[in-house]
Amino acid sequence: MANSIKELLKQDDFSKDDIVKLLHAEGEEKIMLFQKSAEVKEKYIGKRVWLRGLIEFSNVCSKDCLYCGIRKSNKNPERYDLTDDEILAAAQFAYESGYASIALQSGELESPFITNRIENLLNKVKKFSNGELGITLSVGEQEPEVYKKWFDAGAHRYLLRIEASNPVLYKKIHPDNKKHNFRRRLDCLQSLQDIGYQAGTGVMIGLPFQTTEDLANDLLFMRDFDIDMVGMGPYIEHVDTPLIKYADKLLPLKERFELTLKMIALLRIMMKDINMVASTAQQTIDPEGREKSVEIGANIIMPNITPGKYRDDYNLYANKPGSDNIYDDSVSNLEARLALIDTEIVYGKWGDTKHYEKRRKRGGR
Ligand code: SAM
Repeated sequence: MANSIKELLKQDDFSKDDIVKLLHAEGEEKIMLFQKSAEVKEKYIGKRVWLRGLIEFSNVCSKDCLYCGIRKSNKNPERYDLTDDEILAAAQFAYESGYASIALQSGELESPFITNRIENLLNKVKKFSNGELGITLSVGEQEPEVYKKWFDAGAHRYLLRIEASNPVLYKKIHPDNKKHNFRRRLDCLQSLQDIGYQAGTGVMIGLPFQTTEDLANDLLFMRDFDIDMVGMGPYIEHVDTPLIKYADKLLPLKERFELTLKMIALLRIMMKDINMVASTAQQTIDPEGREKSVEIGANIIMPNITPGKYRDDYNLYANKPGSDNIYDDSVSNLEARLALIDTEIVYGKWGDTKHYEKRRKRGGR
């Protein structure tokens, strides 16, 4: 068996069966996988990370995803919406700290008011930073005209996780109605690419009903969609969500964590030059989760710069860092932690993917 994994790891790309095999790698084989992905990362990206200051600007959501703590039907979180001034102050902080990029994330709302508000914010961020601050949006499904408006106003990256690339699994973790439609999510991802965004997607790992084959297909989906950025992380159950009833059927958290590392490692080997986030959910399970993800393939860290008083209410899953346990996400702390794995932070640079440039030159989607 050790041999066959060794042979597999000489390849640059994998079939579904290969991926399933590699996702089951343990012990020495797992170490071989992580060594290979770390080598690929070093060769194509370097031992470096880029920052995106994360502003979780609102937890108001019109959707009812069965796994998510800020789903519309959950009456427990206090709903908040940062003022424009609070958002701009956080963006200014990121700019002055040399983060070079921010990521604006919220629950999903679609309305002319939201469209104009975000367009206005984008204009203001671009203005005060002389166009220097890069902007990633992650505000869910919208009409193509809305995506285009925001792109023209200066957003150039968009993160929209497909959550699960198997439509049957997707249906099991979402309400079965028009507002939670797999096809629409896919169409949204497609229009983001068509408009010219660096398009990012991702999945949750360790969901109830999810099989290893599903995870293998998730990676093939990302490869075939020719995605520029990926943010994938472990599913962590939340007590106020319908999926909590399957909590006793889940893999232990530690195994979901390890499986996520393997997914990151495999995708790094398959898609050498994409941007990959070390997720907060990994850090929630293991305090060194982000560093471990960076070591084996991730190259983007999103320090949370949402004002502290709102953080308890962006409670997507159990134990997500809130106001009582805000990790020290200051750059000095991050620098010190990353130095332990011989990795440096690149300041003042967007860190856009070579993959994106190549895809556009090829005239790809
Ligand atoms: N509404 C936007 C969207 O769906 O693209 C962005 C906000 S949404 C809350 C951000 C991400 O949180 C989702 O894409 C989902 O993968 C993740 N998430 C939600 N609930 C989670 C859970 N219980 N465990 C892990 N991740 C979760």
